[in-house]
Amino acid sequence: MLDKTIQDWSSLAADLEIEGRAFINGRYEDALSGETRETVSPANGEKLADVANCGTEDADKAVEIARAAFESGVWAAMAPADRKMVLVRWAELIEDHADEIALLECLDVGKPISDTTGVDVPAAARTIRWSGEAIDKVYDEIPPTPADSLALVQRLPLGVVAAIVPWNFPLSTTAWKLAPSLATGNSVILKPASNTPLSALRIAALASEAGLPDGVLQVLPGPGGSLGRHLALHNDIDGLTFTGSTEIGKQLMQYSGQSNLKRTFLELGGKSPNIVFADANLEKAAMFAAIAVFYNGGQTCTAGTRLIVEDSIRDKFVEMVVAHSQDWMPGDPLDPATSMGPMIDAGQLKTVADYVDIGRQEGASLMSGGNQTLLESGGCYHEPTIFDGVNNTMRIAQEEIFGPVMSVIGFEGAEEAVAIANDSIYGLAGAVWSNNINTAHKVAAAVRVGTMGINNYFGGDCPVTFEGCK
Ligand code: NAP
Repeated sequence: MLDKTIQDWSSLAADLEIEGRAFINGRYEDALSGETRETVSPANGEKLADVANCGTEDADKAVEIARAAFESGVWAAMAPADRKMVLVRWAELIEDHADEIALLECLDVGKPISDTTGVDVPAAARTIRWSGEAIDKVYDEIPPTPADSLALVQRLPLGVVAAIVPWNFPLSTTAWKLAPSLATGNSVILKPASNTPLSALRIAALASEAGLPDGVLQVLPGPGGSLGRHLALHNDIDGLTFTGSTEIGKQLMQYSGQSNLKRTFLELGGKSPNIVFADANLEKAAMFAAIAVFYNGGQTCTAGTRLIVEDSIRDKFVEMVVAHSQDWMPGDPLDPATSMGPMIDAGQLKTVADYVDIGRQEGASLMSGGNQTLLESGGCYHEPTIFDGVNNTMRIAQEEIFGPVMSVIGFEGAEEAVAIANDSIYGLAGAVWSNNINTAHKVAAAVRVGTMGINNYFGGDCPVTFEGCK
């Protein structure tokens, strides 16, 4: 994998056969309308594939097939140990095809090949294997009823589940949705983001190869505003699991209320605080402060975009982070040496540029970056960017930019650090850096987010919860 050069990956990319048709009832099919949509590489703007542009009629067909598969019991009623083996085999097949899937994800999303080989593909396989292995180990419950009665609390599948995922971690979020939904016996219809359908389409066929019965999993690429909305409003879908923006998440809750009150699970945006005290290991904290924002080009829901630094070390610490930011200058995602690729598309690049302008107008000090770069590539690259002198009321401190832009905010004392951290509509993640264990745990407990790291950023694994508060 990492022993390959940029030339090796480029020649593999040139030979790659890309499947763009929808996956329905165990096989690839065109959209009923025959319509397609191009998917392009964010690294150079070149076309990668024509992808089925599914519409509401494809959704209805997929729901009918998924419902029939569910009611037949072919999957939901399969012995747990057998269902487990299908998911475990699926994880193995993903590992067997790791280079191909990593390459697809790299081309489609613009993620560096070192990330897709080292993080995305292994994480997807691990998630599927972990959920699969749990199938015959999670027991139902017997509540403490009076002696003359017996009650059973059983864990049952919902039925037909729709899953809608974003473009920033297409493979990982697809695995997060499919693994638990399928493990618990549901039939699933996955709608990938329009920009990034390729890895989900590929691994769907591997699920069939692993023994997942036809009709249990469909992958429908198509527009969120029509196909996604139709799934969310569908009266024969029992559950909806979504990762994406807060704006669309709010709409999905409404769609559930307007239709059959389907159970709706939302993983949304963030503006996460990364708090650094003067007594921290500053070298490590500075390196991770850069990782927290620039990894995946800042297109990460849990990105530590608000760097909240104790005033006594602020100038020195910002200098250290600026030095680390140079390790994140963007490059060709096919180059194993690249740490940061392009933004997903021209729209996202413009959003980032607009926020850089807003930061300047708000009076923040631009310490590094601030510009589009590698224009000759035809891709959507932006420099790692750091603003100091940010006040937490500024828009660059309050709004999710979803790009490589860090806002540095000063504080004096733990109380102020916590107040700044909590002064946000978001509550997804964060971290605190201090060598005083009391300070670290007190602050971690007081910051209202779903996941808080201590002397660490982007920790976490399958057994650890991943969700927000607020
Ligand atoms: P998005 O615009 O909300 O899109 C997410 C998905 O929803 C896409 O598949 C999109 O389809 C679909 N969609 C759009 N409008 C819809 C509608 N009216 N009804 C149903 N589905 C609809 O988000 P994004 O820009 O792709 O992703 C970035 C966001 O995801 C950020 O806010 C980020 O923080 C969040 N995120 C959260 C987590 C987490 O775990 N908390 C993880 C990753 C990302 P189209 O692609 O066709 O528009």
